[in-house]
Amino acid sequence: MNKHDSEAVLGLLMDHGYELTENRDDADVFLINTCSVRKHAEDKAYSLLGKLTKLRKDKPNLVVGVIGCMAQKDKDEIFRRSSNVNFVCGTHNFHKIPETIEFVIKEKTRINRTDMDKQVFVSPTPSSRESKTSAWISVMRGCDNFCSYCIVPYVRGREVSRPSEDILREVKELAHAGYKEITLLGQNVNSYGKGLNENIDFSDLLEQVHRIRGIERIHFVTSHPKDISLKLIDTVVNLEKVSRYLHFSLQAGSDKILRLMNRGYTLSQYIDTVKNLRERMSDVKLGTDIIVGFPGEEEEDFDQTYQAMNDIQFDQAYMFKYSPRKGTAAFKLTDDVLQQIKKERLNKIINLQRSISQKKSK
Ligand code: SF4
Repeated sequence: MNKHDSEAVLGLLMDHGYELTENRDDADVFLINTCSVRKHAEDKAYSLLGKLTKLRKDKPNLVVGVIGCMAQKDKDEIFRRSSNVNFVCGTHNFHKIPETIEFVIKEKTRINRTDMDKQVFVSPTPSSRESKTSAWISVMRGCDNFCSYCIVPYVRGREVSRPSEDILREVKELAHAGYKEITLLGQNVNSYGKGLNENIDFSDLLEQVHRIRGIERIHFVTSHPKDISLKLIDTVVNLEKVSRYLHFSLQAGSDKILRLMNRGYTLSQYIDTVKNLRERMSDVKLGTDIIVGFPGEEEEDFDQTYQAMNDIQFDQAYMFKYSPRKGTAAFKLTDDVLQQIKKERLNKIINLQRSISQKKSK
């Protein structure tokens, strides 16, 4: 999603006459697109801001903007910690970035663009893309699930779907420009259609996209396990251009931890979905995310996660240590798993997944 956002902002600026430079010393405008899902990503952004001090000295008129989720969350903190920053801008305001830069240059001031009132889909469409064959397309943004560890609903806002007409127009333009592969993006694509003035769900959207000539492969991310419907499974089975890879995050194998995470399913419900998918598509590939060291995770909870991964045999997994995010429900829980234990648990599942992935790749 962040890479897509970066492309969209870059395209928007290019439409306003800006050019991309590979050399940081040549830049007149410096934008840092941020992620706030984990603390590590935020630390990297702050460290980069510190490094801009020299560049700012050499170029007093340099415009520095911090954009994206961390800008939304930490607006005041960013201004406080770095005098290098001219503006902050959250994901709901990306379309205002060109005018914001001009305002900053003209008024020589600092500005905060983080209001989030709009419940309509506002997201610039990239007019420039890194790849000439493969493109991301945003179909919805925000999330209403409020998993207890996750900052996304607070920084990206509530779920808003993009009208299908808009999506189909973009896909047709891409097909016309020679793109062959698209990825439909959303925090939870299975919620697609809610709140729109049209009677459509994500399966219907997939069918419509599938009809567009020229596009040969369709991916989508991400699906919430509790929302994978039989209709969606049927759609993936029946549409030959839709990739048979499903990324739907298990996060933990212990029902106690899943409950604390507010995930809305049990391990056995998750496994039923996996069985269903594999019965319908023997060649389906499955990907997941796993968090270790969530508050209250005891050895037996972790063992259940390990066992679940071993039983399910994912093709791919993104694995992380739990990182408390201020403002989330889990932040109120004691972060009681020692860093060393988190590290050991993470290494254990990384090693397990590595051996599974290698076996499958062979
Ligand atoms: S589904 Fe849960 S983890 Fe995913 S974005 Fe929404 S709140 Fe975050």
